[in-house]
Amino acid sequence: MKILVINSGSSSLKFQVIDSETERVLVRGLCERIGIDGVFTYKTDTGVSLKEQVPMKDHTEAVHKLLDTLVDPEKGIIKDFSEIDVIGHRLVHGGEKFTGSVVITDEVIQAMTECNDLAPLHNPANLVGVDACRKLMPGTLMVGVFDTAFNQTMEPKAFLYGLPYRYYEKYKIRRYGFHGISHKYVSQRAAEFMRQDPRRVKTIVCHLGNGASICAVKYGKVVDNSMGFTPLEGLVMGTRSGDVDPGALEFLAKKENLDIYQIMQILNKESGVLGISKNLSSDFRELKDAEIKYNDKAAMAREIFAYKVAKYVGSYAAAMNGVDNIVFTAGVGENDSDIREEICSYLEFLGIHIDEVKNRERAEAVKISDGLSKVNVLVIRTNEELEIARQAAEIAGRVKGEQAS
Ligand code: ADP
Repeated sequence: MKILVINSGSSSLKFQVIDSETERVLVRGLCERIGIDGVFTYKTDTGVSLKEQVPMKDHTEAVHKLLDTLVDPEKGIIKDFSEIDVIGHRLVHGGEKFTGSVVITDEVIQAMTECNDLAPLHNPANLVGVDACRKLMPGTLMVGVFDTAFNQTMEPKAFLYGLPYRYYEKYKIRRYGFHGISHKYVSQRAAEFMRQDPRRVKTIVCHLGNGASICAVKYGKVVDNSMGFTPLEGLVMGTRSGDVDPGALEFLAKKENLDIYQIMQILNKESGVLGISKNLSSDFRELKDAEIKYNDKAAMAREIFAYKVAKYVGSYAAAMNGVDNIVFTAGVGENDSDIREEICSYLEFLGIHIDEVKNRERAEAVKISDGLSKVNVLVIRTNEELEIARQAAEIAGRVKGEQAS
């Protein structure tokens, strides 16, 4: 099967075409600056590489450009659209309604629209991508893969806040957890790499990118996730604050005469390692360069980040009453060996020993703990697109089976 994977954001749309049998990426690319000046990037596994400035006034035009290129006799990879068996859409928030991937129908779109309040930045942008594909490829099966779905196995003790219960009943205010597509892929890949049965292992996945979250996965099911009602809770991130005492925010609002929107802007865009480093950077590479040059704020930002990750890992080991695998993934987790080493230095009480040479190796998957370590520590490259393609292929297979019988 050929699967078109779409990840639609407010002004960009990432895409890949994946062959589900070989799991090869046939095409990958990006429509950027949609509604502004439009930049189209496209690369096939046969060596076609494009980067063009193309006006794309909306997502429909972006999908149009993508589809035209896919069937282009010189640059394309298919003869006509019927060769695309299914489109897999990354959808951010499925609330409590979606515990797994679904065929996108009018009812699903209606239910997702009802979740828009929960993710006002992400869900409407995802739906615009779905809408554009439905317009241009009306006969093609579409599957929605939610970032929240994998986390839906959390129990009330993990997902409820210490708020009056009526707010959960009335507005579904609770912890949802995010990065579920990545956490699922990485926890399963770790078990596969270690030749373990995923239903018998306890894994903590540290997805450390610009947005960062930690997930406790026990016997294949999520027990806890550091992100909450929104992706703002939990770790100190690139520009997001993570956990903060709400009392500090009231204090700040009064002192600086700020309204709630201004406070949210500070928490989402001006905080994290960017804010701690006095606006030096949200990029861990730049912070490391500055730290080498004795910039104490850059050093402090990285230290706070690592300390917080270690605290979450420790608490999730308690939540699962043990841990077999700790896995680092995403931009920082996959590439920053110093941060990994620093985080692991707090975790020696769990019997963790890191092999310093292995920790500097680069591979799709590598075990960086040594033979003495009581816990496996791994670095695994996340692959959200492949996970979406797998789930879309599974559902498409099921639908085709039902149609045939
Ligand atoms: P997101 O998907 O949340 O935007 P990514 O997973 O792509 O984030 O991670 C982006 C971050 O990864 C960058 O902000 C950068 O700080 C970090 N990063 C990428 N490469 C390296 C590297 N070689 N060393 C340290 N940090 C890196």
